[in-house]
Amino acid sequence: MAWLPTLFVSHGAPTLAIDDGPAHQFLKTCGKSLGKPKAVLMLSAHFEAPTATVTGSASPGTIHDFWGFPDALYTLSYPAPGDPALAQRVSHLLSAAGIETHIDAKRGLDHGAWIPLSLMFPDADVPVVQLSIDARKGAAYHLRLGEVLRPLRDEGVLVIGSGGATHNLSHAIRAPQDEPIVEWASTFRVWLADTVGNDRRDNLASYRDIAPDAIRNHPTDEHFFPLLCAIGATTPDEPRRQIHASDTYGALAMDAYMFGTSLVDLE
Ligand code: ZN
Repeated sequence: MAWLPTLFVSHGAPTLAIDDGPAHQFLKTCGKSLGKPKAVLMLSAHFEAPTATVTGSASPGTIHDFWGFPDALYTLSYPAPGDPALAQRVSHLLSAAGIETHIDAKRGLDHGAWIPLSLMFPDADVPVVQLSIDARKGAAYHLRLGEVLRPLRDEGVLVIGSGGATHNLSHAIRAPQDEPIVEWASTFRVWLADTVGNDRRDNLASYRDIAPDAIRNHPTDEHFFPLLCAIGATTPDEPRRQIHASDTYGALAMDAYMFGTSLVDLE
């Protein structure tokens, strides 16, 4: 079996699930191009825990962890199965690396996980396991998490980080959906594309200090760190490619990246 690539996707606002815009279309195309992996291991900005927590339910529920959005979004569900054996495998990899972990047999899928996956794998027939992040642990920890998960790529598991290339919600919440991206977000995404493209991991890890308008684009780290997980699961000599760029609400870049030896051609 070939080593699977890893992905970073931006999930933007929950309306991504129902608004037929460029990022919505991209995720559909992306999923089709990837075929059917054995399972997905998802690291979402919306699952933070002080101990690295793995979802172990065989049938995870759909968590509607957002407020004030159209009623239609709260009726959606994504009934993909879990994968308790994969949860055990992830837990074992973490423990072997000296990272404290536990399995949560009850937790469902948060919207950072199920909304992109509902577009990528609409038949809900690819098992999904989530692993928590913890922004308080910093950048190096999230690169390390990815590194620990690297063997899964050789076992048919698609590792996905789901966050946001830029994520200033206080601007986005006041902006119309079709507002063009503001200059400070545009400048940051250009920096990000260049830094990711050249695999400058050290610069990504210290992005808050060196990237243009970093704190304005990421007032908190949790939507940035899933990118580091996806990169950490690859080696610096592997190819990488930006596979999507669009934006919504003036300040949310919906950019996506693919990493790994077996990059998939998106049709
Ligand atoms: Zn989010």
